[in-house]
Amino acid sequence: MTIDEVMKCIKDEGISQVDLKTTDIWGRWRHVTLASTYFSEKTFTEGVGFDASNLGYGNVVQSDLLMIPDPSTAFIEEREGQRLISMICDVYSVDNGKPSPLDPRGILRKAVSSISDVAENVMLAPEYEFHVFNSVAFNLAPNEVFYGVDGEEGFWNEGVTGEYIIGKKGGYHQVTPFDTLATLRGAIVERLMSLGVPVKYHHHEVGTCQVEIELDFCDALKAADYTMLIKYVARNVAKRMGYVVSFMPKPLYDEAGNGMHVHQYLVKNSVNIFSGQELFGLSSTALSYIAGVLTHGKSLMAFTNPTTNSYRRLTPGFEAPTTAVFGLGNRTAAVRIPAYVKDPSKVRIEFRTIDATTNPYLGFAAMVLAGVDGIRRGLDPVSLGYGPVEDSAEGRGEQLATSLSEACDALLKDNGYLSGVFPEALIERWTQKKLQEEREVNRVPNALEFKLYFDV
Ligand code: GLU
Ligand code: MG
Ligand code: MG
Repeated sequence: MTIDEVMKCIKDEGISQVDLKTTDIWGRWRHVTLASTYFSEKTFTEGVGFDASNLGYGNVVQSDLLMIPDPSTAFIEEREGQRLISMICDVYSVDNGKPSPLDPRGILRKAVSSISDVAENVMLAPEYEFHVFNSVAFNLAPNEVFYGVDGEEGFWNEGVTGEYIIGKKGGYHQVTPFDTLATLRGAIVERLMSLGVPVKYHHHEVGTCQVEIELDFCDALKAADYTMLIKYVARNVAKRMGYVVSFMPKPLYDEAGNGMHVHQYLVKNSVNIFSGQELFGLSSTALSYIAGVLTHGKSLMAFTNPTTNSYRRLTPGFEAPTTAVFGLGNRTAAVRIPAYVKDPSKVRIEFRTIDATTNPYLGFAAMVLAGVDGIRRGLDPVSLGYGPVEDSAEGRGEQLATSLSEACDALLKDNGYLSGVFPEALIERWTQKKLQEEREVNRVPNALEFKLYFDV
C-alpha cells in the first residue's frame, strides 16, 4: 500500500489500531500498537520513539530511536475479532533524522545498494523447515525436552501406541493420514497467500514432526520481511490450532535438523547474471560468487548460523553441510547447484548452511556481500579447491565452523567484506553477545555428560 492507501484503509474499514513491528538486532519482531486516533500521515515522517536498548541497539543512556513504518509492508491482522493494520518499520536516529546504522533492515538495504557496480538486484528464495509439537516442556535442570504430535513419534509413545507412526528419517513427502500436519501447513500457507506471500509449496520433511514451506523468488528485502512474517504466521496459526512450532536448527537429538536454505541469483539489466556457459550452466560471475561465499564461510556463519544450537545441526548424516564445498545436486555441500533447473532465467545457487535463527536482514546482507566480494576479486572456486564435489562432501574440503565461538573468531578476523555496510560497533556487540551465549550454554551440564562421566 501507499501512505494514502493505508490512511484510506484505516478510515474505510474502521480500523482502530495500528501495529508497528521492528526487528531487534537478534532477529525477533517487537511490536507496539497505536490507537489509530494517535496515528496520522505524519507518523510516516516523524515516526514513533522507542527504547532501543531493549532491542540490542545500544546502551540505556543513548537509547531513543525512532521507528518509521514502511507502508509497502502493510497488511491487515485479525486478533479475536479486532482488526488492525500492521506495518514493518525502519529505524531512524532521533538526532539527525537519518537511518540508524544499526537497523538490520537498513543494513540489508545498504548491502543491496552497495553492490550496484555488480548487480541491480538480488533475488532470493528461502526454504523454511521447522518442527511442530503438541507441546514442549523444558527445564534446564534435568535436561529433558518432552514433545509429541498426534500420530507421530514422540518420546513417550515410541513403540507404545501400536499405531503407524513416521519413523526416523521416514517423513519426506509422506501423505495423509501419516502426514498428520498437512492441515496445519495448509492453514499457514492459506494465510500467507492471503497476505500476498509467493508460496511455492509445502510438504512433510524427512524428520519426525518436521515440515517445510518454500517460497518463490523475491528481492532480498522482501525475502527478509517475509522470513519474519512466515515465522510469525506459522507460530500464530499453530497456536490457534493447538500446536507450537520451532525453527530451532536442531530441536531433537539425532533427528533431522532445520535449515533455511536460500536459493539465489543476481540480476543486472533485468537479466539473471548467474546463467552462463561455464560449469553446470553457470556464469563465471556465479562461480566467483560461490567462491566468495565459501571463502568467507566461517566468518559469515556468525550471522547465518548465530546460535549454539546451529552447530548441533551441522553434523554429518542429516543433509546439512559440514564443509565449504559446492556440487551439482549435492545436499551435503554448503553450496548446491540444483540439477533440475534448465531455464536460464531461473539459474541459481543454493546456500545450505544458513538456518532460521539468523536475523534474516543481517544474514542475507552478509551472505550477499561475501558472494559479491568473490565476484569483485574474480575468485575461481575450482582452483581454490572448493569442488565441484560429486559424492558425499563430508570430510571433503575445508571444514565449516563447528561452533559459534569459532564463527565469531572468524568474523573478528575476516570482516573486510562487510565494511561500509556493517558498522564495527555491530560486529563488536554481536560477537560479544554470541560468545557470552556460548559460555552460558557451556556452563550447563547435559544428559550425555552424565552418561559419559557419572561413574568415572
Ligand atoms: N533438513 C536438512 C538441513 O538441515 C535439509 C534437507 C533438505 O535438503 O531439504 O539442512
Ligand atoms: Mg528441506
Ligand atoms: Mg533445499
